[in-house]
Amino acid sequence: MTKFVFDFAEGNRDMKDLLGGKGANLAEMTNLGLPVPPGFTITTEACHAFLKSGREPEGLSEEVSTHLEALEARMGKKLGQSDNPLLVSVRSGAKFSMPGMMETVLNIGLNDQSVRGLAAQAGNERFAFDSYRRLIQMFGKTVLGIHGEYFEEAIDAAKHAKGTTNDLDLDAEDLRSLVETYKDVVIKHAGREFPQEPREQMDLAVKAVFESWNTDRAVIYRRQERIPGDLGTAVNICSMVFGNLDMTSGTGVAFTRDPASGAKGVYGDYLQNAQGEDVVAGIRNTIPLADLEEIDKTSYDELMNIMSTLEGHYKDLCDIEFTVERGKLWMLQTRVGKRTAAAAFRIATQLVDQGLIDMDEAIQRVTGAQLAQLMFPRFDESSGMKQIAKGMNASPGAAVGRVVFDSYTAVKWSRSGEKVILVRRETNPDDLNGMIAAEGILTSRGGKTSHAAVVARGMGKTCVCGVDSIDVDTKSRVMRAPGGVVVQEGDVISIDGTSGKVYLGEVPVVASPVVRFFEGDETAVGDELVAAVARIMEHADSKRRMAVRTNADNAEDSERARRFGAQGIGLCRTEHMFLGERRQLVEDLILADTDEERDSRLAELLPLQRADFVAILEAMDGLPVTIRLLDPPLHEFLPDITELSVRVAVAEARGEEREGDLRMLQAVSRLHEQNPMLGLRGVRLGVVIPGLFAMQSRAILEAAAERAKAGGDPQVEIMVPLVGAVQEFETVKQDIIQVARDVRAETGVFLDFLVGTMIELPRAALTADQIAEAAEFFSFGTNDLTQTTWGFSRDDVEAAFFSAYLEKGIFGVSPFESIDREGVGELVRIGVEKGRLMRPGLKLGVCGEHGGDPDSVHFFDMVGLDYVSCSPFRVPVARLEAGRASG
Ligand code: ADP
Ligand code: MG
Ligand code: MG
Repeated sequence: MTKFVFDFAEGNRDMKDLLGGKGANLAEMTNLGLPVPPGFTITTEACHAFLKSGREPEGLSEEVSTHLEALEARMGKKLGQSDNPLLVSVRSGAKFSMPGMMETVLNIGLNDQSVRGLAAQAGNERFAFDSYRRLIQMFGKTVLGIHGEYFEEAIDAAKHAKGTTNDLDLDAEDLRSLVETYKDVVIKHAGREFPQEPREQMDLAVKAVFESWNTDRAVIYRRQERIPGDLGTAVNICSMVFGNLDMTSGTGVAFTRDPASGAKGVYGDYLQNAQGEDVVAGIRNTIPLADLEEIDKTSYDELMNIMSTLEGHYKDLCDIEFTVERGKLWMLQTRVGKRTAAAAFRIATQLVDQGLIDMDEAIQRVTGAQLAQLMFPRFDESSGMKQIAKGMNASPGAAVGRVVFDSYTAVKWSRSGEKVILVRRETNPDDLNGMIAAEGILTSRGGKTSHAAVVARGMGKTCVCGVDSIDVDTKSRVMRAPGGVVVQEGDVISIDGTSGKVYLGEVPVVASPVVRFFEGDETAVGDELVAAVARIMEHADSKRRMAVRTNADNAEDSERARRFGAQGIGLCRTEHMFLGERRQLVEDLILADTDEERDSRLAELLPLQRADFVAILEAMDGLPVTIRLLDPPLHEFLPDITELSVRVAVAEARGEEREGDLRMLQAVSRLHEQNPMLGLRGVRLGVVIPGLFAMQSRAILEAAAERAKAGGDPQVEIMVPLVGAVQEFETVKQDIIQVARDVRAETGVFLDFLVGTMIELPRAALTADQIAEAAEFFSFGTNDLTQTTWGFSRDDVEAAFFSAYLEKGIFGVSPFESIDREGVGELVRIGVEKGRLMRPGLKLGVCGEHGGDPDSVHFFDMVGLDYVSCSPFRVPVARLEAGRASG
């Protein structure tokens, strides 16, 4: 039969699947010989079985009884026994900690009789009734589902009657009567009496923990985080220790080092005569942990020893919860602690220097997302800025702009070139266009999982949310901050999504020291954080199998990316080279009636394109440069059809002849498409417009020849976009080969170059073996591949329904942000496999934005790509993640 219950002594920290995080770590501490109050854990499997059948699995109740009896025997008391009660806490604990799980219930086992036993046992009546009222309150709220406010109101009334705000001023008598009030609250709001039977209390609490696995909050969180829904939560039953006995008792939380900087020292808070969450709930002012040394040196010293044991054992920063009962220290929880991005890098290298971990492990202790955070520009701290409020740091970055109070104004003002910050009480899908237009988003309500926060993070946009100290009045178009600060629409504010701070006026922005370091600024290396980043990056580079290239369309971006460590260009788009002053030439080309006309326009474009390529090849000298032939549909280079129609109609009405406009309108109408994303673009253009791809290839190869003659080392890869069938590719490739022969004959330079294709249509992935017969490399265009696999166009759907999908957890993250492994990723895998089958050694890369996304980078490493390519700024992130993926 399945074993559903484990004594703390039977588990260890590797059993998180079965015992949950809390249970596994309680077991680990128990086996380290640390003072953990004895107890046992009911497994996640029991929860799973309960949720599946709606009943306690067979044998669970007996197994719990056996463990409870053993616990009672060991403690020398029985659960809820009237003269000498054993009390326990019932604590949830899943493998991953998540919102929505049931809160802990303490003091289970107390009832009208045993409360007296507890009083006698402790010689402290006040304490016993304080514990009892806490039990009814916690049980009422979390197990019986009564709104916590009813209990809060009752205790506030009791304090008020005493003329105090401090719970310690309530005496035994006050608490005894509060217990009665609480019992009435239970009857009134739960329609039943508070259960007096200790085992029933415990069983109901256990069941409530099981059921909390499926609260809405938990379900949505799991979908978003891609946590399987059938893991279930464990339940820990832990014998009580009491921090609320008297002033020689107390409860506290601590970190083994500073979670903000990584510095060693004593970090934590302590509260005397208190229980459980009191220390973080803000009911009274806590004292710094360091002060415990004066209050109770023995416990303090022991705690310091235990913390260093834990750090040595877990080889990482740990956070802990502890309680002191009449001068005796008890450990109630530990786990590897959360930390800021900066601390993560510092701590990783500090632990290496202490000999606790090696560099291989150190690179696993940091993430690309953390590195990206460190690369955001930040506000200049020395600028004497005026902080007006602080909220939650929902999405990092530093944004400055004029305050607007609605989406419409945000879009309008940003169209006219203003930078705006969208300020709302909270956002909803109607605000999306405004959020896209804004530099940053500020809300006065909602937490880190609010609409504003989730969507802003998805868009990589700065967001501060839940700034409850400001009042947003969208009707009068003002926001009021504490201290009488009034901000009108149009006033400039600055928001810091990394710290949650809000400033009045424009705060100057400076590059982060980490970016200065990547840019080659020697002075930045003095900084401890930068030094840590440098060490980690060096090691990641030495480990990684995949190369990292950049997406860049000009020499400037290429140079920067190279400084950031890019090993070539994975995607050089050529469309922007058709814009600006060249637009006229392109228009003429599209409108050309005769071959001669078209050829002459192409001939004019040739030298311009060539010059672009020369500069890029020079910046990337010695490194591969993948240049994509023209991809977007031609109408993108022509005037807007509606505007043009209006102009022609107006002219006609006035009886004017506008020959040019009329011709243009005909052309634009001819090229107009219902679904441009699926229209005449990519290789299709190359097939249909004679000479276009040949001209581009000529410009590329002539540029390469010029560079070679100048002593450079150009490494060109010509890439054909949107291929769906090998025949398309072959048609275009023939032309390119012909051009190459011509260029060779004309320049006398023999060039080594590759011709390959993008794989961005499902058909291309599925027929990759055929395409690989002709193509010398593949680059997965995962943006288009995502669009064509899902059948939606990004521009249309992101604003339309993505926020709803994200909120409902249908997407954990947008498939444009992070690769959809099961769908789009599977096509990539098939493309890789079939391509290599046909052409072993086929060069494979990815050039969609996913190339800079940490999770996607791991996926691309797993399927065996040779490189990823991403925007210059993401290059360090990709380097780090590629290194971590190889580790
Ligand atoms: P969370 O998952 O929210 O951290 P915990 O199960 O750790 O919840 O419990 C909430 C609070 O109650 C913590 O401060 C914890 O230390 C305290 N606590 C839990 N069990 C006991 C116990 N057996 N004795 C004393 N305090 C306890
Ligand atoms: Mg806890
Ligand atoms: Mg594409």
